[in-house]
Amino acid sequence: MAVSRTTRTSSRRSSSALAEPVQRLRGVGEDSAKLLDRLGIRTVEDLLWHLPFRYEDYSKVVPLRSLRPEVEQTVVATIGHVATIPGRRGPPRTEIELRDESGAPSRHKAVWFGNAFIRQRVQEGQTVRISGKPKWFGQGLSFTNPTLEPADREAVQTARIVPVYRLTEGLKEGYLRRWLLSLVTSQRLALVTDPLPPEVRERQELPAIADALRQVHFPDAPPELFRARRRLAFDELLILQLATAQRRARWIAEAKAAPLTVDDGVLDGWVGDLPFALTGAQRRALAQIRADLARAVPMSRLLEGDVGSGKTVVAALAMRIASRCGMQSALMAPTELLADQHYATLEALFARGGPTVARLSSSTPAAERTRIVEGLQRGELDVVVGTHALIQEGVGFARLALAIVDEQHRFGVEQRATLREKGAYPHVLLTTATPIPQTLWQTLNRDLDVSVLDEMPAGRNEIRTEVRTPDALPKVWPWVKGLVSTGQQAFVVCPRIDPADEERETLFEQAWQPSAVETYDDLRGGALSDVRVGLVHGRMPQKDRDAVMSRFRDGEIDVLVATTVIEVGIDIPNATVMVVLGAERFGLAQLHQLRGRVGRRAGQRAFCVLVSPQSDSDRLRAMSERVEKDGTDRLLNGFELAQRDLRMRGPGQFLGQEQSGFADQLRVVDLTDIDPRLLDDASGEADRVVAADPDLERAEHRGLRDAVDELWERYAFA
Ligand code: ADP
Ligand code: MG
Repeated sequence: MAVSRTTRTSSRRSSSALAEPVQRLRGVGEDSAKLLDRLGIRTVEDLLWHLPFRYEDYSKVVPLRSLRPEVEQTVVATIGHVATIPGRRGPPRTEIELRDESGAPSRHKAVWFGNAFIRQRVQEGQTVRISGKPKWFGQGLSFTNPTLEPADREAVQTARIVPVYRLTEGLKEGYLRRWLLSLVTSQRLALVTDPLPPEVRERQELPAIADALRQVHFPDAPPELFRARRRLAFDELLILQLATAQRRARWIAEAKAAPLTVDDGVLDGWVGDLPFALTGAQRRALAQIRADLARAVPMSRLLEGDVGSGKTVVAALAMRIASRCGMQSALMAPTELLADQHYATLEALFARGGPTVARLSSSTPAAERTRIVEGLQRGELDVVVGTHALIQEGVGFARLALAIVDEQHRFGVEQRATLREKGAYPHVLLTTATPIPQTLWQTLNRDLDVSVLDEMPAGRNEIRTEVRTPDALPKVWPWVKGLVSTGQQAFVVCPRIDPADEERETLFEQAWQPSAVETYDDLRGGALSDVRVGLVHGRMPQKDRDAVMSRFRDGEIDVLVATTVIEVGIDIPNATVMVVLGAERFGLAQLHQLRGRVGRRAGQRAFCVLVSPQSDSDRLRAMSERVEKDGTDRLLNGFELAQRDLRMRGPGQFLGQEQSGFADQLRVVDLTDIDPRLLDDASGEADRVVAADPDLERAEHRGLRDAVDELWERYAFA
């Protein structure tokens, strides 16, 4: 019975009896309090919120003769002979012969390793309950390190569904369970304030908070446990939804954006002038953005789409709307090369009567920079594309109405906020190629709308993907060479820059660790000696990196050996091969993005070869796994891979530090597996509450307001 994860210190506003230090509880002394402190448990209430992360179901109680192997159960037995047997190497073990209630011997036994106390706790002839999962051993069944309680004592760790808690060294599980059982059966439990208005609780058919807490620690039965966890998860989701719904409501109330509108005819004209037809997904996203821009409430939208799904043109059309309304817009990209690419794209798209575009980066010559900065300041320049240089001090806008951050995850919160603050209340559009599963997104970022480009421009071929072991490389390189000889280009991506330091290599590290520098040297001197090989990695200065990337883009390099610095947005239609060495070292989302770097030219076959000693791992296999949906057989898309990635790596790693701030606050909700119906229910209630009482001022919303305030507080300090 595995459920979710860690717990966290609570600082809930609560009545004094719950705010008391844990030492006030019977049986919790100074030493125990110190141990609990290490788990972040200081008050009685902290202890109450130290939730089990899983359970052992020992509720099935059987007599000795009905004992079955390999099942969790509780047996009632009489203690027979007790023996302590010295260990050959490790600690001694204590073996107890089990007898049935009449005292008749059996071949079954219970064994404890290294637990000398057990001997003092039992007496021959005593009736006890023993819980665990026995296995065949010789001719009888044997429990290993089971829990044991005298049959005449209250059942805490046997004969029920038993909670399993996160522990710390020195803290005895049995004690913790006893403290919690007495806590949840004490009067104190009634002091927990229920944050939910009774009306919501009834509508959602949720148990009261005290019941939920009691059942979550010591469930009567699985259905009660389910209801209890559902209740606690509902609260967490509701609080999260309220927190972001409120933030949004405040933002809407105070912010006044410039409404940016354009006539159908004009927009249709621009779209008709594009060198290609927009995909359905692009048209839908554009319509959503256009509707946002037309309002006085600033847009706050994420444009999410696989690599190559065509986010730039959508952003460009939004910028064109702004400039037609006489307002300024800025597009910020994470690298100079990408800024250059966008600059070229915008210039081409705006060639016929569109606004002029300025480009600002750290390598912009001083005089040019001055001209641009002044132009922006005076409102003479409508559209600017650039790097971090855009958010430097001294760069100001006369009337910035649209701020776009490309590849938003490459920037910090601060940087995005700084761009936003360059205008009064600009509309904000963020783009990303990292697909975040919908439910996860809704849970964490309700105040950001999402447009999804879930359709690729026509003519893109599927990228043929194969997973190979390193011993296939002697065949891979000549094949790459063959493709190069027909004018195509290839990427070879490595997980590290330098070779591993051999002296420091331990037994565990002797894995295959291909490095970019080494691979580059090897290929140049060997398998690819007669093609032009280039090298780019993250330790090179940005200037040098950009120079190499430009040469690759211009066809002066055939095979580019790289680290993941190439992950970001650059568009090289002639590249058709992506070889990833040490593929097991990358996340699935990352591999998907790397793969998306090739196959940009319609009608051209493209390949991705993932090379790894673990070529049959589930993770890598997912990259070439096929599904059949809506009549087409295809590779898993970015969203499907992201969902897998999230499951396999957990929300912390998947989201990265910045985004997981809220994730860390959750005790019950498992972000890798959010129940969409519960989320819907919670967000529906959040809407209802905010609509009726935006500032949560009503008495019945007091509990919710405290919880929301506390969430922000803890989030801010996380
Ligand atoms: P990303 O979503 O990764 O930022 P880009 O905006 O860089 O993708 O677009 C990738 C390429 O696809 C560009 O060369 C762009 O001109 C092209 N493109 C965008 N939309 C379409 C379309 N509807 N049809 C054909 N090509 C398109
Ligand atoms: Mg892009």
